[in-house]
Amino acid sequence: MVAAFRSNLHFGAEPRAGRGNYRQMDRGSKPAVLVTGGAGYIGAHTAKALSERGFFPVVFDSLSSGFREAVRWGAFVHGDIRDARAVAEALDEYGAKSVIHFAGLIEVGRSVVQPDLFWEINVAGTTSLLTAMRERGVERMVFSSSAAVYGQGGRGPLETIPEDATKAPSSPYGDTKLACEWMIQAQCKAYGLSAVALRYFNAAGADPSGLIGEAHEPETHLIPLAIAAALGDGKPLTVFGDDFDTPDGTCLRDYIHVNDLAAAHVAALEVALPAGAYEAVNVGTGTGNSVREVVEAVGRATGRPVPHSIGARRAGDPPSLVANASRAKDLLGWEPTCSDLDRIVADALRWEAQPAYGSGRRATSRKIESTN
Ligand code: UDP
Repeated sequence: MVAAFRSNLHFGAEPRAGRGNYRQMDRGSKPAVLVTGGAGYIGAHTAKALSERGFFPVVFDSLSSGFREAVRWGAFVHGDIRDARAVAEALDEYGAKSVIHFAGLIEVGRSVVQPDLFWEINVAGTTSLLTAMRERGVERMVFSSSAAVYGQGGRGPLETIPEDATKAPSSPYGDTKLACEWMIQAQCKAYGLSAVALRYFNAAGADPSGLIGEAHEPETHLIPLAIAAALGDGKPLTVFGDDFDTPDGTCLRDYIHVNDLAAAHVAALEVALPAGAYEAVNVGTGTGNSVREVVEAVGRATGRPVPHSIGARRAGDPPSLVANASRAKDLLGWEPTCSDLDRIVADALRWEAQPAYGSGRRATSRKIESTN
């Protein structure tokens, strides 16, 4: 089984030359950071942010859902987190003493029908990763957690969520993120690792460079689907329920620009923490926007109303998820700087109008449209 996950160490953009030497020349004295899942949406934006901050990202990704084209900063290692030996080799090769762990499955709906797969990849995968990290003396971990650990938990729709709020995940996906947090916390205490779990609210938008952006297959997220509907090459949007106990009846979410989220990872990597410390931190803006407000923002940005209808509620959707984001500011000195909804939608639209990678059909049809 493990043989199938054997890693394939090689460089990203640059040709190979004189292995260790070349690596050291390329990296200089920059500290290497292993970024599992760094070919995915948030991982790629974080790799760029790390590089801009003077780190050397080593993207470790199986490419099961990430894109090779998204790896443009640092090095690339093709591997699976369940292969502890491959992870250990990558840590050795680059001398990485910190890990940012994104790799895992994220689709809430799929987790309801295939919970076993989510436990295998998200939880067993994280166990295996932690084993390799412990063996190689990794000192700092930043873990990709989620607001899904909270569920609704008896909270009112206008209440923001502090980190110590009740944890009542409403999907197996949320269960696996919470299980990973518990496991990481216990290993911090037992083995002296220091870790920050970042609980993301709704990541959205794209880097203004146009080089990287959101490309899930299949796409299930609201903003890309609303843009596709408005551009006319996606299906009309279905709004999942308008009878929630919220101001306009549609769900409230806290949309955070992916570059703000990336900056939070760099801050979590750099914050001074004693050995054995474990911190869980919300990464959101503290402001909720309804599905209707997002649909209107996409209409404004595209200059076309979003074709949509009201459908049934989606399984596992809590009515509202809005962060209390004060701990991120107090502990990490982090605050969002580009998460205004119109800015998020404008950046998402720039990417969606001409995605650099992702579904070939979608990219082709949009390129034709943009040259007309
Ligand atoms: N949503 C919707 N129609 C869609 C996709 C999403 O109404 O086709 C709603 C969904 O019910 C939720 C919000 O948009 O209230 C954000 O959903 P998304 O899947 O983008 O992120 P999630 O909150 O599930 O992480």
